[in-house]
Amino acid sequence: MSLIVQKYGGTSMGSVERIQNVARRVAKWHAAGHQVVVVPSAMSGETNRLLGLAKEISPQPDSRELDMLASTGEQASSSLLAMALMSQGVPARSYAGWQVPVRTDSSFTKARIKSIDDARIRGDLDSGRVVIVTGFQGIDDDGNITTLGRGGSDTSAVAVAAAMGAAECLIFTDVDGVYTTDPRVVPEARRMAVISFEEMMEMASLGSKVLQIRSVEFAGKYRVPVRVLSSLTDPLIPLEEEMTSGTLITFEEDQKMEAAVVSGIAFSRDEAKVTLLAVPDTPGVAYSILGPVAAANIDVDMILQNQSVQGTTDFSFTVNRNDFARTLDLLNNQIGPAVGAGQIVSDDKVCKVSIVGIGMRSHVGVASLMFRTLSEEGINIQMISTSEIKTSVIINDKYMELAVRALHKAFGLDTESGQAANP
Ligand code: ASP
Ligand code: MG
Repeated sequence: MSLIVQKYGGTSMGSVERIQNVARRVAKWHAAGHQVVVVPSAMSGETNRLLGLAKEISPQPDSRELDMLASTGEQASSSLLAMALMSQGVPARSYAGWQVPVRTDSSFTKARIKSIDDARIRGDLDSGRVVIVTGFQGIDDDGNITTLGRGGSDTSAVAVAAAMGAAECLIFTDVDGVYTTDPRVVPEARRMAVISFEEMMEMASLGSKVLQIRSVEFAGKYRVPVRVLSSLTDPLIPLEEEMTSGTLITFEEDQKMEAAVVSGIAFSRDEAKVTLLAVPDTPGVAYSILGPVAAANIDVDMILQNQSVQGTTDFSFTVNRNDFARTLDLLNNQIGPAVGAGQIVSDDKVCKVSIVGIGMRSHVGVASLMFRTLSEEGINIQMISTSEIKTSVIINDKYMELAVRALHKAFGLDTESGQAANP
């Protein structure tokens, strides 16, 4: 008997029939003698619907009230799941975040979990119940309901698994695992049976939407074994089969000894680039530019400062496209004049494409194959950034699909045999 946490995404909870299927699957685990804690998302579309209502009332709704509102989606799906379980004869009880409690800080709409009290959950598990904990929400020290940011129920599930020392955290979703890239862009993309935690961190932060990045951070910090798998299979498939399906996020890097140098291609269209031309190249200039950007709570991704020519330099950085207008406003009206920039140019038609793989640590020539592949496709690289296990480029977004397909092929990810052999 083990303690298993299972998270079900919005699609998995998307209708009464699907909720009943989730209940069947959970009942199967329960019947096999496992203790099961389930963390559901809101029914698909529900969070968007709620946030849409808020926008109809106010263009900039109060963030505390947004959390009051958005958290209701998970409360509804959780109670429905408890009812579905009970009607299948399985004792079950659902808890809202505040009832557990799941304690968070007070950053409404993007709160961070601080602690989870597992006493109530344990009590119910020990009396034979399945326990359902609402995803996505918690409570701050002042008793306000908070939410964890879009996609946050992944983080709720991993945090519950960490707090309870669960044997595994199963993330049931509408795809059957983590792919070498998005199969909608590259039909040849393949599911990875395992991915290292470091690679998953990169894939999640680079735009692969399978898991919320914070959930991966949590998994890494507390070494929670996480498996991403499909909720759309027959709910009664044998446990042994289910437990080896999907993609396991592993911490055993040696498992990957024979694996590919590049494991996956990630991409994100939500990028925008700004450049300050002819900025005086003096100490403190980067701080004068990026300090106010950080103070405005805008995340900067790639940064590039050129060699100075006659005492001035060009300074570029990228931000999320959602922050583009605010960033530009800040540059034109505040930062540009303050640092004496010659001109400000911008481009929100860019995207980021990245190759990821822990094998890059021990192989040379990986980035150069990336650059060669892009040049053969006639794609101009605007910015480059590298880490130990990834290389990212900023390119014009109309070439995104082409770049992803070409790189997927060049690194041998199109074929299983090619993968292990990629350079
Ligand atoms: N319901 C929330 C969202 O749509 C949280 C989640 O599904 O993970 O973002
Ligand atoms: Mg999600």
